[in-house]
This record gives sequence, structure tokens and C-alpha cells, in this order.
Amino acid sequence: MRYDYCVVGGGIVGLATAMAILDRQPGASLRLVDKERSLGAHQTGHNSGVIHSGIYYAPGSLKARLCREGAQATKGFAADHGIRVDVCGKLLVATDAAELTRMDALYARSHANDVEVERLDAGELQQREPNVRGVGALFVPATGIVDYGAIAKVMGWKLSLHHRDPNGTTASDVEALRAVGYADGQVQAITAFIALRLAFSTINDALGAVPDDELSASVDPKVRDVVTWGR
Ligand SMILES: Cc1cc2nc3c(=O)[nH]c(=O)nc-3n(C[C@H](O)[C@H](O)[C@H](O)COP(=O)(O)OP(=O)(O)OC[C@H]3O[C@@H](n4cnc5c(N)ncnc54)[C@H](O)[C@@H]3O)c2cc1C
Repeated sequence: MRYDYCVVGGGIVGLATAMAILDRQPGASLRLVDKERSLGAHQTGHNSGVIHSGIYYAPGSLKARLCREGAQATKGFAADHGIRVDVCGKLLVATDAAELTRMDALYARSHANDVEVERLDAGELQQREPNVRGVGALFVPATGIVDYGAIAKVMGWKLSLHHRDPNGTTASDVEALRAVGYADGQVQAITAFIALRLAFSTINDALGAVPDDELSASVDPKVRDVVTWGR
């Protein structure tokens, strides 16, 4: 099969990339593949669920801007699709005088980054969170938590509406990538060899008639390491 785009990996990055491509080019054909049977099965489904505010990043940096915009986009996506977000806020606690000084710098940075932050002394901290001891704290009210695994599944559902073949999306190992088109010294096209671990297909079917030596020469060792899983 030929597609305009093939996205490898159904974690939050692959899913968001696939959605962004289809937003810009709704008519494109796109295949998203993941070696697991469900989406978000690795880091995305096993993180702490924090929607970060961007307080730590250097003011004016791309990271600071993207973190702020990403937090808004994540909350918006969750609200639009009925995924619960708990905007419980976050406490950054200083436990001694040295950390208090570092906290001052963070407080200044939060303003430069346009992130709302409340400053608490030891008494106010005790009042807000009696189980935490510290000499001071910063409270970031906009920080929330969400189930990124749920977000991944909803994104996958939206994508499956596009290519109408949800079963083919998962349980597909990318076995190898091979550059097939060059122009001006740059790679213009890549073929992905995909092994479907589904009943109707074997790795050999997926690899087709490509001779072994040609295939192994084209396999990026990093990819080869990843795909030994499940054999
Ligand atoms: C302990 C921990 C806590 C974290 N807490 C937070 C947090 O609170 N907030 C936050 O924003 N971020 C957090 N992060 C970071 C966040 O989880 C990651 O940045 C994010 O999930 C990475 O997404 P990803 O799509 O790049 O990777 P993944 O979610 O790991 O997705 C990669 C996908 O690629 C697939 N894949 C790999 N190889 C192949 C192959 N050969 N063929 C087909 N498919 C393949 C895998 O099956 C997987 O589904 C945390 C990370 C860790 C480790």
C-alpha cells in the first residue's frame, strides 16, 4: 500500500503529528502504525499526567512558548472531548534557605514567562497543605492533571474516522526504513517495511520480495533493535 504519510508511533507525539498533518491537508492519506495493540501504551500512558505550565523554561524561548500553548491546547482538547482535567494547581516547595533563594529566581522567571504564581510563606504553605513541611513555596494555580492515555485513545479514534481502518493501526511493527528517492542530495521518500502481527499477515508477507541482504543493509540498527520485540 502507498500512503502520502506514514507516522510511526502511536504515542502523544505521533498522534499529534498525524492530526496536525491532516488538519493542514485533510485530503492526504495517512497511516499511523504502532507495534503495540493499543495506543499510548508506552511513555504516554505511563507518565505523571501533569499539564505543565512552563514555569522553568528560559523566558522568550521556544520551549516556554510551546509549553504555554501546549497546556492550553491540551485543556481545550480535553474539554472538547469530555476528558476530565483536574486543575488542582502545583506546589513547588523550598525546604531550606538555599532552596528559598532558588525559589526567588523561579518566581521572577514565572512573571517573565507570563505564568501566574502565588508566593507562600511557611505559615501559608502549612495552611494550604498541612501534610507538607517547608520554609516557603510557590503555588501555580493553572497546573492540572489529565489521563494522557485517554487523550491518546481519543486522538486515535479521531484518526481512525479519517482512514476508516482502526484495526490496521496497531500491532504493526516498523521493521525497517529505506530511502527510495533522492534529489539534491536529500532524501525525498522513504519506504517503511511494516510487519503486521495480525492473523492474516506474517513478517515475510510484509517484507515481500526484498532480498535479505538488501534489507539488512538498509535497516537502521536503532530500528532493528526496537523491532526484535514480539518475535
Ligand atoms: C516517569 C515519567 C513521567 C512523566 N511525566 C510527565 C508529565 O507529568 N507530563 C508530561 O507532559 N510529560 C511527562 N513525561 C514525558 C511524556 O510522557 C513523554 O514526553 C511523552 O509521552 C513522549 O511521547 P512519545 O509519543 O514520544 O513516546 P511514547 O508514548 O513512548 O510513544 C512511542 C510509540 O512508538 C511505538 N513504537 C516504538 N517503536 C516502534 C516500531 N518499530 N514500530 C512501530 N511502533 C513503534 C511504541 O509502541 C509507542 O507507542 C513523563 C515521562 C516519564 C518517563
